[in-house]
Amino acid sequence: MSDPRDAESEKRAWPAIWRGLKCKCPKCGKGWLFHHYLEQVDHCSECGEPLAYYKAGLFLPFVVITVVIHIIAAVMLDIELRGGASPMAYLYTLVPLSIIMPLAILPSSKGAIVGLMWAKGWSDEQDR
Ligand SMILES: [Zn+2]
Repeated sequence: MSDPRDAESEKRAWPAIWRGLKCKCPKCGKGWLFHHYLEQVDHCSECGEPLAYYKAGLFLPFVVITVVIHIIAAVMLDIELRGGASPMAYLYTLVPLSIIMPLAILPSSKGAIVGLMWAKGWSDEQDR
């Protein structure tokens, strides 16, 4: 028999993750989650939800690296299946891609992690 709190938590998780992917508050989806590139707001400007205690921590680089590695590997596999390319072509395409892509997906990834943590109630609040 499953706990009804788990089902409710699961139901809240996906919309919260989606709102976080859009860098919005996981509760209301209206206020911004960050006031700079990755600097998280203390409270939502729209609903006042406290968001400072939801820290992505080391899960953020794990998620970003995992996503980037899979995309780079798919691009490399595609290049090789099409007959390969010169080492310089790899250097000029994959090195910039492996630098720009993590920077581009960092805010959305952090937002999704914060949304998941908010929905599940995984906060640092008890550490205060
Ligand atoms: Zn809000």
